[in-house]
Amino acid sequence: ELKGNIRVFCRVRPVLSDVDCSGTEGPVVSYPTSVEFLGRGIDLMHNAVQKYSFTFDKVFNHEASQEDVFVEISQLVQSALDGYKVCIFAYGQTGSGKTYTMMGKPEPLEQKGLIPRSLEQIFQTSQLLQSQGWKYKMQASMLEIYNETIRDLLSPGRPGSFDANAALSKQYAIKHDPNGNTHVSDLTIVDVCSIKEVSFLLQQAAQSRSVGKTQMNEQSSRSHFVFTLRITGVNESTEQQVQGVLNLIDLAGSERLAKSGSTGDRLKETQAINKSLSALSDVIFSIAKKEDHVPFRNSKLTYLLQPCLGGDSKTLMFVNISPESSSVGESICSLRFAARVNSCEIGIPRRQTQMR
Ligand code: ADP
Repeated sequence: ELKGNIRVFCRVRPVLSDVDCSGTEGPVVSYPTSVEFLGRGIDLMHNAVQKYSFTFDKVFNHEASQEDVFVEISQLVQSALDGYKVCIFAYGQTGSGKTYTMMGKPEPLEQKGLIPRSLEQIFQTSQLLQSQGWKYKMQASMLEIYNETIRDLLSPGRPGSFDANAALSKQYAIKHDPNGNTHVSDLTIVDVCSIKEVSFLLQQAAQSRSVGKTQMNEQSSRSHFVFTLRITGVNESTEQQVQGVLNLIDLAGSERLAKSGSTGDRLKETQAINKSLSALSDVIFSIAKKEDHVPFRNSKLTYLLQPCLGGDSKTLMFVNISPESSSVGESICSLRFAARVNSCEIGIPRRQTQMR
């Protein structure tokens, strides 16, 4: 059973006063309040006459706190401790709130994102389960995929600049073993025992991430960020064993070419991003349609995540939306993509997109 495990949550960030000062009007997003849509619907006004409506498993509006969002995913995170393979993606254009959703801000504490919150929960719960005989081993790795090349964010040569010489000798070849475990050669894997240890690694990884400049966001990330926590649990009294994986993925910005004013290196980056994002959607749709051949190998991202996207794994995708009218074109693209992914959940196209 390959389908049935993909859910899509939509999150709309607040209007940012410093971004939205370019003479564009206020938000173009509204939320239908009928019982059918409550908490699940989003309307997007393109202009006075064109309205687009979408439905998701959940919609978080600009008032949703990090805690509000985490409450809705904490069970999914928990299932990694129970031995499931879990993937949580953030998809959307640059500046839509992907990094805020996944990592958040370190200060104040309530702005912490899903990654630190998930890790806190996992460590707390694994401690509690000790009283029932469970012993867990946790291993963290963090990488980014930039222009279809894997970079180790925890390699000893880092943080700071990307060490080209070190990279040349490292292949970062992806292999899957028959037990559904993924190995990336030369990738740094760190045993972690506490939230403090992982927080330190997250800081290190954040420093190492490559950032690019586009017209839309000075610090926009042009790479996919993949945080992986491997969890091995052994119950000493029952001899039960579980092996779970939690993948938390901050995807590169989904914006199309023209808007980011791409030329040269930026153009190459954008093409690589588009290629891997479409490879991701091809894989999701192909799994949903139960096709015999799922094109996992078409991108590094999908090949890396292969065991965590099929089978009895659990996938959640956040589609992050910028509410400003200047972003409405990109928002429609993101919402259409996400609505298609959402319709995979039950395997038949739902009445997701209504254009009036
Ligand atoms: P992305 O990762 O998609 O490029 P960011 O996460 O960097 O976007 O968000 C862009 C800006 O908006 C950042 O300054 C971020 O702090 C802010 N932001 C995003 N989402 C929210 C939110 N829900 N509440 C408050 N600020 C937000």
